[in-house]
Amino acid sequence: MRKTAAVLLLLIGLFACTKNTQNALPRTLIAPPEKVLAKNVILMIGDGMGLGQITAGMYANGNYLNLEGFPVIGLQKTHAYNNLITDSAASATAMACGVKTYNAAIGVDKDTLPVKNILEEAEEQGLKTGLVATSTIVHATPASFISHQPMRSMYEYIADDFLKSGIDLFIGGGLKYFNSQRKKGNSILPQLQQKGFTISGIANDELVDVYLGNVDKFAYFTANDAPIPNATGRDYLPQASMIAAKFLNRNRKQGFFLMIEGSQIDWGGHANDTKYIISEVQDFDRAIGKILAFAKRDKETLVIVTADHETGGFAINPKSRKDSIIGAFTSSYHTGTMVPVFAYGPGAELFSGIYENTAIHQKMRQALGFDHKADSTLVSPE
Ligand code: MG
Ligand code: ZN
Repeated sequence: MRKTAAVLLLLIGLFACTKNTQNALPRTLIAPPEKVLAKNVILMIGDGMGLGQITAGMYANGNYLNLEGFPVIGLQKTHAYNNLITDSAASATAMACGVKTYNAAIGVDKDTLPVKNILEEAEEQGLKTGLVATSTIVHATPASFISHQPMRSMYEYIADDFLKSGIDLFIGGGLKYFNSQRKKGNSILPQLQQKGFTISGIANDELVDVYLGNVDKFAYFTANDAPIPNATGRDYLPQASMIAAKFLNRNRKQGFFLMIEGSQIDWGGHANDTKYIISEVQDFDRAIGKILAFAKRDKETLVIVTADHETGGFAINPKSRKDSIIGAFTSSYHTGTMVPVFAYGPGAELFSGIYENTAIHQKMRQALGFDHKADSTLVSPE
């Protein structure tokens, strides 16, 4: 009897202790102010770059890619708001703005309402910003980081949104959506110049020859329309990526956000063209190598490499060899398979695990310490 009572007392005591501990917990768990983990974020998107595409590029490259230097790997779910199979507009909007939306939406939600993107948030926090692509710069992926339009095909309206942006650098194709070839009216290049842009392009200068010493903002057009494939001579992406990172990092205290897209891996997938996919993955990986080297020197840059979706249902079929990949396809469109995320640098650990594409936006904000700066009143009210 006494023994039972003692056990009971002990149990009550244990519960009491547990309760006390729980009561005490909120004090000790009050979150410290959100830390700034990374000064700079470079988001690299291989359009249509699933695991098959990466693997083919790797074997064809002597069984090695610079991607292997990334210590943290995760997976993201790419589905759009109303379609399991996303397009590049909905998925780029998910990563840029943190919302699931409909296919073809550029920086707007399911109701076509504009949603602030990470580039705009970075500008508000005083960071420099830039976009680099191997498609036109008004194509769905880069557009979703700078524009707010209901349809991805509204290229000239997307170009107009560059005038509303505080962006510091962009490099890509699509001059015809900015100059006097516009259907909409006059060239908007003079307005870009008024905003402080030095504008150049493949017709005037090679990218490597442009002197950026006293340039405030920089726009470089790599083609009038879409740039050509890597296999037929386009090779600016690694160079442009390096120039962009160095240009945006000139004031070392300021920090920057840069999005770099390997745009044409997707086009190789749509064309069910294994060689096209491989050369574009390898070109993108050379850019990854340049950026990884930059981040290793800089030590304050978070680099994220991912895709917006897989394209083609691309597989490496039997009888393939490292130097002779036999690709097979299930589709000439995108597929719904998850795509990998690779991260390096301060805050990289945030990107391990499986999560929605919208979480990329939240994780970048977290790494840059924006949650605390923007919503300081929301930090742990008990
Ligand atoms: Mg794209
Ligand atoms: Zn596509």
